[in-house]
Amino acid sequence: MSDKKYADMTDAELLAAVPQWYDCSADEKAAFRQQIVPRLDADDTFSFDGDENCNGGNGNCCWGGIERRCACGNRRVAWTWDHGMWRAEAY
Ligand SMILES: [Zn+2]
Repeated sequence: MSDKKYADMTDAELLAAVPQWYDCSADEKAAFRQQIVPRLDADDTFSFDGDENCNGGNGNCCWGGIERRCACGNRRVAWTWDHGMWRAEAY
């Protein structure tokens, strides 16, 4: 794992570094860079849809945006494009 910032990566590098993202249109890639990449570089965490059963049923879980699973390990989470916004969703 390099310490290269996600913002400095090419699209191909970014796709390889973020396994829960996927190849998409140029507009969607641009939006991902605008909406999500700065937060990845800031080591932010993300809320996601589908965390009702996380933390022993208490919900309120979060996700780092890179790993395959949420913080408590209960759900697999991925990025999904939804009406002009990227959001995190369990699947
Ligand atoms: Zn969780």
